[in-house]
Amino acid sequence: MPTIGVLALQGDVREHVRMLQEAGASAMSVRRPAELEAVDGLVIPGGESTTMWKLAETFDLLEPLQLRVKDGMPAYGSCAGMIMLADRIEDGAEGQRTVGGIDMVVRRNAFGRQVDSFEADLDFAGEPVHAVFIRAPWVESVGPDVHVLGRAEPGDRIVAVRQGPLLATSFHPELTGDTRVHRYFVDMLREL
Ligand code: GLN
Repeated sequence: MPTIGVLALQGDVREHVRMLQEAGASAMSVRRPAELEAVDGLVIPGGESTTMWKLAETFDLLEPLQLRVKDGMPAYGSCAGMIMLADRIEDGAEGQRTVGGIDMVVRRNAFGRQVDSFEADLDFAGEPVHAVFIRAPWVESVGPDVHVLGRAEPGDRIVAVRQGPLLATSFHPELTGDTRVHRYFVDMLREL
């Protein structure tokens, strides 16, 4: 059984832990470099990506995160976590850094300018999911190795992607009772 960490700098840490356990993984929160070393994969929750970036630097986690992702650790980022996994961001704060790993441009607060938060039924990797968006980013563009797993209105925007061991969604599956996205991530770890 893989052990999956949930980055516990801010966000829905407990909800992600519960969803991962329901999906068949063992899960623990990660706040220190030694804890990051102990996990087989990592969930980066939503929250506020500028805060998460600053906290990651304060806790000496940004470089270890970058190294583990570069080294092939599977990771799943939701909302602000998606921003953290993006190689490039639009509308970021001055100097904002990310962990990176997915060859994509993510626009922060993109839906937020139109609708602050909303819910939608959409297709995720061929399965129906109910998605909750909160001041969500969208994916502006992707490189050739990135698979688009889901899109949402308004605008048929890209809201779920995968590149190798990295998964990201603009929405928050931990806020629904639906464990499908977490299951998809746990299955990814088993296959890798
Ligand atoms: N708007 C937030 C950011 O820029 C993301 C919102 C969320 O994670 N719910 O980080």
